[in-house]
Amino acid sequence: MAWALTPLTEEQREIQKVAREFALAEIAPYSEAWDRDQYFEPAIVAKLGALGFLGMMIPEQYDGLGLDTLTYLVALEEIAIVDASVAVMLSVHNSLPTQMLLRWGSEEQKERFLKPLARGELLGAFALSEPEAGSDAASLQTQAVRDGDDWILNGTKAWVSSGTKGDVILAMARTDSPDDRRGARGISTFIITPDLPGFSIGKKEDKMGLRASPTVQLRFSDMRVPGDRLLGQQGNGFIYAMQSLDNGRLGIAAQSVGIAEAALRHAVAYAAERKQFGKPIKEFQAIQFKLADMACRVASARALLHMSATAKDRGERITQFGSMAKLTASETAMWVTTQAIQIFGGYGYVKEYPVERLFRDAKVTEIYEGTSEIQRIVIARELYSHT
Ligand SMILES: Cc1cc2nc3c(=O)[nH]c(=O)nc-3n(C[C@H](O)[C@H](O)[C@H](O)COP(=O)(O)OP(=O)(O)OC[C@H]3O[C@@H](n4cnc5c(N)ncnc54)[C@H](O)[C@@H]3O)c2cc1C
Repeated sequence: MAWALTPLTEEQREIQKVAREFALAEIAPYSEAWDRDQYFEPAIVAKLGALGFLGMMIPEQYDGLGLDTLTYLVALEEIAIVDASVAVMLSVHNSLPTQMLLRWGSEEQKERFLKPLARGELLGAFALSEPEAGSDAASLQTQAVRDGDDWILNGTKAWVSSGTKGDVILAMARTDSPDDRRGARGISTFIITPDLPGFSIGKKEDKMGLRASPTVQLRFSDMRVPGDRLLGQQGNGFIYAMQSLDNGRLGIAAQSVGIAEAALRHAVAYAAERKQFGKPIKEFQAIQFKLADMACRVASARALLHMSATAKDRGERITQFGSMAKLTASETAMWVTTQAIQIFGGYGYVKEYPVERLFRDAKVTEIYEGTSEIQRIVIARELYSHT
């Protein structure tokens, strides 16, 4: 079923194969247990790092593979087909912290943080959300105050994916003063490492899905951050976060397409196997139509994703396409996994069969990196931006 809107090149097919074989050999045997135990396997980071998968879009100059976006997303889909928790770790790392360092980091920051991230020696995380600032991320309250050359940070970041394991966390904080609030322009980005005094890991979320991806709060209590940890320009942090999310959303779309593809494959196989009224249920037109609709939606979501990726690789601005791809793919993942459970009947509702986990994993794709409502706002706004 592996295909793309435009035929994949030999190199893209090779990387896709590497990702597929890795996922089947190194992840698939453990996925069910990792989900059950909410277990994050650190060895998987090292193994993915050895393949170069933690620096997929980072130029070779900074120890990455220097691949284009489409190749990265094709590989990410293969990982997500097997395990959406591993996929989100890969997506966040490749789309957000590493890209932010590549785009706005100083040469010294690239040497110190980007290179080991790209080699997979360090894992990256992204901390924008706060308990009171989700969709309205610009209302975040974590405060950074100058103290000599350093910054002192106080606040709580919420929902940080890979937060217990993140070695390099790109965190957004206010650098405007409480008496002179500048809205989104008062936010800056800092490169945070867990060794900073005043850093601690707070509550770990007990989630419906993506249970093998640790999602935590991070607490900054009078955390002293050296001045050279400011990323780019002071006051540009929110812009950096939003521009990065344009790309991050393609990663979540690939994760969603992977979840939906997995559900489709399981449903196709089960419908051929399961017999009722003396014949396989795939003989019933009601089931055939469901499978046909599922296949159409997966193909449409993938086509939009690949189109968006190639637009990005041509250097085009993809704010609207990124949101369209993410919205379409995440709603596809939710719809297709729901249909898959229906095709499995009662067996779809129990943990013994894989579609139950896929259904739980799909839901969050409609929530993080911008909810479906926020994606619709972005898409609608872009419709008027050229008029
Ligand atoms: C598993 C998981 C992992 C995550 N990982 C990260 C991470 O690594 N880093 C990070 O920074 N964040 C992360 N997040 C946070 C995520 O991005 C937020 O949950 C998301 O942006 C929504 O914010 P919220 O949960 O506060 O919901 P709210 O913003 O409170 O939204 C509640 C509801 O109101 C709707 N709503 C809000 N505003 C509007 C509006 N203007 N118009 C219409 N409807 C609206 C929303 O769509 C939603 O339905 C993660 C979240 C989860 C669940």
